[in-house]
Amino acid sequence: MTISVEKALADGANAFARISETAKLDAQVLLLDVLDKPRSYLFTWPDSLLTFEQLQQFDTYLQRRLAGEPIAHIIGYREFWSLKLKVTPDTLIPRPDTETLVEAALNLPINQTAKVLDLGTGTGAIALALASEQPSWHVVGCDRIEAAVELAVTNQTNLSIDNASFVQSNWFSAFAGQKFDLIVSNPPYIEQDDPHLAQGDVRFEPLSALVAPDDGLADITTIVSDARDHLQTGGYLLIEHGYDQAQQVSAIFTKMAYKEVTTIKDLGGNDRVTLAQWHT
Ligand code: GLN
Repeated sequence: MTISVEKALADGANAFARISETAKLDAQVLLLDVLDKPRSYLFTWPDSLLTFEQLQQFDTYLQRRLAGEPIAHIIGYREFWSLKLKVTPDTLIPRPDTETLVEAALNLPINQTAKVLDLGTGTGAIALALASEQPSWHVVGCDRIEAAVELAVTNQTNLSIDNASFVQSNWFSAFAGQKFDLIVSNPPYIEQDDPHLAQGDVRFEPLSALVAPDDGLADITTIVSDARDHLQTGGYLLIEHGYDQAQQVSAIFTKMAYKEVTTIKDLGGNDRVTLAQWHT
């Protein structure tokens, strides 16, 4: 005996009510993945019955979600910018906040054939979004973790984006002597004892992508400092940071002699990205 699409959605939304603020949407996303149908199917065919296998798979998904696992890990992908990205537990799950960084980078007055570097690329989200929007740029994404580099290459292949490449590198270690017109990064910036780390999706993400020493500022400081050797004159550095770190991050940029230091807010109205220009 199996159940209808409508009943499956109601059961899912009910089950998630106590663990998620988006219970209904979570149930829809999981069921659509099980059914392998477009979203409209849920509303046009509410009475159609799940097959026994679909019901079993949906039940498994419900249990995993109830145990706290992120939706992106259960279905194996996440939408970012205009891209559908494969996601694994090896990297951070791309977040809407980071689209603020992509948008800011695309608004810069940069020449047609820019060389761009994305430090700590993870799934390749930022690098691939920039490369897909600016076909005349070449975007290099790097990550210290080999599995992340492999994942980014898989995403690049799946999306058929030609003007990006991915390299294993601990920040700038693989780029001795190389200069870029634009360097971007969403580095780890959360404090080690932040209570936020004990709740929600972050529990299933690698700490190495989330947490940094020195009140979360250690990696940002390293990047801002070392980028001075890897930016063309007039080149830009854009870094994502915590909503309450804008002042400290701006101070780091200013101390290191960058110009035009500017903070940009995300869609939630929080300070999220700091941008500056390098002049030697
Ligand atoms: N903004 C993310 C969060 O709060 C963290 C991203 C990061 O550390 N780079 O979960």
